Amino acid sequence: MNIEFTKEIWGQIEQYMLKEDFLIITDSNIYNIYKREINSIIGESDRILILNPGEDSKSLEELSNIYEVLLKLNISRDGYIIGLGGGVVGDISGFAAATYKRGIKYIQIPTTLLAQVDSSVGGKTAIDFKGYKNLIGAFYFPEKVYIQTDFINSLKDREIISGLGEILKYGLIYDYSIFLKIKNNIKRIFNKDLDIIEKLIRKSVEIKSEIVEKDKLDTGIRRILNFGHTIGHAIESYYDYSQYTHGEAVIKGMIYESRISYNRGIISEEYMNEIEENLKPLVKRVIYTEAMIDELINYMYNDKKNKDGKIVFILPTGKAEVDVFYDVTEIEIKKALMEVC
Ligand code: ADP
Ligand code: ZN
Repeated sequence: MNIEFTKEIWGQIEQYMLKEDFLIITDSNIYNIYKREINSIIGESDRILILNPGEDSKSLEELSNIYEVLLKLNISRDGYIIGLGGGVVGDISGFAAATYKRGIKYIQIPTTLLAQVDSSVGGKTAIDFKGYKNLIGAFYFPEKVYIQTDFINSLKDREIISGLGEILKYGLIYDYSIFLKIKNNIKRIFNKDLDIIEKLIRKSVEIKSEIVEKDKLDTGIRRILNFGHTIGHAIESYYDYSQYTHGEAVIKGMIYESRISYNRGIISEEYMNEIEENLKPLVKRVIYTEAMIDELINYMYNDKKNKDGKIVFILPTGKAEVDVFYDVTEIEIKKALMEVC
């Protein structure tokens, strides 16, 4: 596997600098927090590009700027882009690496819990275009992914919750012991107990790798990774990505989608309650009006994962078991969104 857990990330980065043929891409939040460490390895070098934090940086303009910097530094086809950051940095620096000179080497250092458990596996890179998230992109697998758990130490609680959303998802689609581990250790997780967090990250990465390995181009079983995402993506889009982090939206999605499953008589009330009791405290509650729900459903129809105009849902069918459904009706979606609050 190309993923390596490390406690010596700065030393690891240093090895790529020997040939003077690299560019580090990060964002200003990360740079400000880890300035001392970064400067101690790159010194006076201009081989670092600092993006503005946030989704707006995943733009064609920023990509063009990255190409200009790569050109100016004369990065060769054997050169490296080192992406040091969360999903935003990872997506755009990975795409730049995938496309510059038909592909140069890419080293990914995910610094958020979400990026460590999610985008570190699977080779998805992209930028946004004309308001469409990840419209332009490529599958491009990094030469190496380094995961250093203690980047978590500087994350805000909401960023922890965002990563936790995806980890909970692995628990609910694949390995119930993960769900139980979070349930039983939630306080310790928020206190940044890195022992527990690292175990959860390792497990998540293992599961995602296993699933991605079976379906590299995302046409089959990988679909189960979308549990919580049909409604989650709609919620993110509805609020224009400003109200909820990705993982928070996925948590809400998993709550509603479990409710749909319960309403269909697929999962027991006991199981649905267990999911709700553990997920609800992690996200802000909201009561949806009919108009909001109609708009959310419109967003669901626009999901690029749909087939023949039908909204695709991954619904829980039992503990750590899910299945794909194409026949969920608008009435069922509405009912679930009205019922849970
Ligand atoms: P993700 O999609 O992984 O959440 P983002 O790139 O949107 O990634 O990062 C979320 C936020 O967290 C951004 O504001 C980013 O600057 C910040 N961030 C990333 N890594 C760290 C870190 N280790 N410590 C503190 N803040 C971080
Ligand atoms: Zn996700």
